[in-house]
Amino acid sequence: MAEIKAGLEIHQQLDTNKLFCSCPSLLRSDPPEFTVERKLNPVVGETGKIDIAAEYEKTKNKTFTYEVYDTNCLVELDEEPPHQINPQAVDIALQIALLFNCKIFPVAQIMRKTVIDGSNTSGFQRTVLIGHDGFIETNEGKVGIETIALEEDAARIIKHEGSKSTFRLDRLGIPLVEITTKPDLKSAEQIKEAALKIGEILRAAKVKRGIGTIRQDLNISTPKHPRVEIKGFQNPKIMINTIENEVKRQQETTKEKKAKGEVRKTNPDATTSFLRPMPGAARMYPETDIPLLKISRQMLNNAKNNLPKLTSEHRSYLKEFGLNDELIKLVLKQNKMQDFEFLINTINNPNLIAKTLTIFPKEIAKKENKPIEEIYKIFNTDILESILEQVEKGKISENDIKPTMQKIASGMNLKQAIQKEKINLKDEIQTFIKQKPDLSINAYMGLIMAKFKGKVSGAEVMEELKNQIPQ
Ligand SMILES: [Zn+2]
Repeated sequence: MAEIKAGLEIHQQLDTNKLFCSCPSLLRSDPPEFTVERKLNPVVGETGKIDIAAEYEKTKNKTFTYEVYDTNCLVELDEEPPHQINPQAVDIALQIALLFNCKIFPVAQIMRKTVIDGSNTSGFQRTVLIGHDGFIETNEGKVGIETIALEEDAARIIKHEGSKSTFRLDRLGIPLVEITTKPDLKSAEQIKEAALKIGEILRAAKVKRGIGTIRQDLNISTPKHPRVEIKGFQNPKIMINTIENEVKRQQETTKEKKAKGEVRKTNPDATTSFLRPMPGAARMYPETDIPLLKISRQMLNNAKNNLPKLTSEHRSYLKEFGLNDELIKLVLKQNKMQDFEFLINTINNPNLIAKTLTIFPKEIAKKENKPIEEIYKIFNTDILESILEQVEKGKISENDIKPTMQKIASGMNLKQAIQKEKINLKDEIQTFIKQKPDLSINAYMGLIMAKFKGKVSGAEVMEELKNQIPQ
């Protein structure tokens, strides 16, 4: 394959309220409260140039319709100035920048980035630099992180017909971190490795999960071909094929002297197709409605002291406790790491804690025919701590945990759930022997254990059987 020079640009939504108002970051699928219609005119930026991408869009003379919900306010409609930047989003962005080994800007100007496709009611997106000059490690060497910015997500495109576009305001203003790598990536394999690594680091922080919450773009050039930006490059399964196809396409267009810098999008079949010309440089000007963002030493120390661990670090931590791979996978997948760290102080039995956090709730959810989230809600760390304390004090056995949880899930309180039925073993065994005389001790044992499963101990039953049946 030809020589590659590539960089990644990744946008990840943070799991907080919106960036410049206190509306919830909630995507809606129900009908909107109302809609508003707008026309957008690109204006001359403060640098005096009209963005060439803006000019391109202007030729289309578009009308934009915005769907508005009760979870939106006047900020999203651009009828009210932005509020102060969301401090929680700043803290998370700081942690992410530190996880990427970045240097932090002590003071930064919030900027407006021209966006004229209608996806921002204001015609621009607010963005602020948080960190710069970081790096990640890959098997093929260090990959530089150029910048990390905190910015607002755009409105969602719902419908597009000719010159008319409809956008939903639910997504507008959700905090995003934008991670831009240096063009250090040199092979398809390294690009994929870096993309996965960046994803792992992001997931350690308080970010949104699931489809649409992370978006990756790839900037890629080959010899004698200008840089091409590929949008929607986030499916790991087709990454390598997409790169190989794009390199082939670039080499062919170079040969035919048709090479252009342009923005393309990833297709599901791992090819790319033309989206729009590459935007020019005159895209940013200062946001004067909001003061400078200052990162104090205290904020920085706070972020450093509370830096989240990566999945790979969690994995080796759990391995040290002797958990098997299956349980480690479950704890991480079900996001129970913090609960595990909390409960290990209650009872020094890592396997039991892992099972109590993952396997038992899953089995109870299935038996009770309830969603797993509902079961997780019942078994918060407080209630699990109380149950495990009973084991630690010897009031119930390890085997009692699941039945106890089962009873709590079906509505009992802890006290009721751990109360044992009084079983008169002597009488019960006598009755068994009368009903079915002349069986072997082992046969009685089997019958009794089946009837009083989990309520009597095998050793007690055996002892009583030996008393009653002459050897
Ligand atoms: Zn709002």
